Amino acid sequence: MTIVMKFGGTSVGSGERIAAAAKIITQYAQADPVVVTSAMSGVTNTLLELAGSIAQNDSAARDTILKHLIEKHRVAAQHINAKDNWEHLEQILQNFEVFIRGLTPADAAEPKGIDSIASWGERLTVPLVAGAVAARGYAVAPAVTPLIGTDETFGDATPDAEKTQRIATEALQNAKKINAILIAPGYIGVSPNNHITTLGRGGSDYAATLIAAALNANACWIYTDVNGVFTADPRIAPQARALPIITYGAAGRLAVSGAKVLHQRSVAPAARTGMELRVLNSFEPEHPGTIITREAKKIKGLPLAVVGRENVAIIRLVGSGVAETPKVFERMIIALAKASVAIEMTIAPIPRHDPEVVIDMRQSSLAAEALMKEFAIEYDSGLLDSVLVDNDVSLCIVVGSSLGSSAIRSARKALESAYINPINEAYASDAVTYLLRRKDMLPAILCLHQQCILPAVNARMPIGRPYKSGQWAAGGKAARQRTLQSAH
Ligand code: ASP
Ligand code: MG
Repeated sequence: MTIVMKFGGTSVGSGERIAAAAKIITQYAQADPVVVTSAMSGVTNTLLELAGSIAQNDSAARDTILKHLIEKHRVAAQHINAKDNWEHLEQILQNFEVFIRGLTPADAAEPKGIDSIASWGERLTVPLVAGAVAARGYAVAPAVTPLIGTDETFGDATPDAEKTQRIATEALQNAKKINAILIAPGYIGVSPNNHITTLGRGGSDYAATLIAAALNANACWIYTDVNGVFTADPRIAPQARALPIITYGAAGRLAVSGAKVLHQRSVAPAARTGMELRVLNSFEPEHPGTIITREAKKIKGLPLAVVGRENVAIIRLVGSGVAETPKVFERMIIALAKASVAIEMTIAPIPRHDPEVVIDMRQSSLAAEALMKEFAIEYDSGLLDSVLVDNDVSLCIVVGSSLGSSAIRSARKALESAYINPINEAYASDAVTYLLRRKDMLPAILCLHQQCILPAVNARMPIGRPYKSGQWAAGGKAARQRTLQSAH
């Protein structure tokens, strides 16, 4: 039995919070926890500032930031355990300082150097969490090097499952030999050339599910600072509530669409292996949080959450000869992909006639250039007149589980009641996506949440009443322990 417990930045944001995390970890000691930790909150941003100061050759700024970071981790250590001499931490702090002082401005301007600098947040938190668990009387095996093998795409590395399995399994075996709890850094990986990489901002969730998959863990619990996955962003829709349960498909869609709770790619490794994935609140550890699972009768057909996406644009070709342009859609997509433009959605209102592609707005000019180049001949011959970029759009995505016509009708009705006319819509079994005018996004989120999602979720899953579904019991701690027992 293995469970991976991941703690996010705010859950390890101070000595106090790290001590609280250690308490949660040791409560589950008999379930063989493997801990994955983020950097203390704010530290990754500060490290990126540090990289900037080195790149600009501003040694005064570098020294100030360095001192602040060292102090911050020392203060946390003292809060965790004033009796410990923190030798292990001091050693790592020293390595950190030597490393930083050895960097040239050119090093710190390169993606490779930036990743190495950014990696220290997690590497400095590991000894703190380890010290806090040790203070509770448990043996610990802190790993300050990455457990994840990746390629060499700095800043957004792609994991190598086989290598990860090798490294993680070995680390766990070594920890088990001495009966210790393995404590590992999130966010970071190691490339074939032994360079440190990162999995992208917020990547500790992804690290946790990758490590859990590599170790064939029974469960991966993501501890954050809210009570799970919400029906909407509570800052936009104050009545939003935590969902007791959601499917991998819907949670994955939410993450990809920009909901902040989970890293974009983090759901996939869990979905692949079918492990229990939970989002829990380290500030309220008794709350059942959200369980993410394959499918459950309880939520079948339900719209579960809504998320908005700004910063998108439609790009289309304009001209009387679009329909006569050979392979126009295919060429558009390939040209955009070759230029590394992220394609959010494709639309062909009339098949093969007026292809439109929804892209990230920040890539509009890159995309327009790529299309001008691809269709240069058609422009010269007058078939096409221009590439049109429409920035006045946004996306609104309703996610759910096996959404059918009644959920779609209910969403439609909600939008109609607010006089919102989508420019386009696309359906999948776990999501309905609306392309809207930009001004319509917030009203759309609100009316979809109030009229379509919340009533459906509340009717099926009344607040405060835990429910059971097969072996999955999304109750509090007692229920989680039952889940663990049944997984034995
Ligand atoms: N520390 C990293 C970040 O701030 C990764 C994470 O916290 O998930 O992006
Ligand atoms: Mg996070």
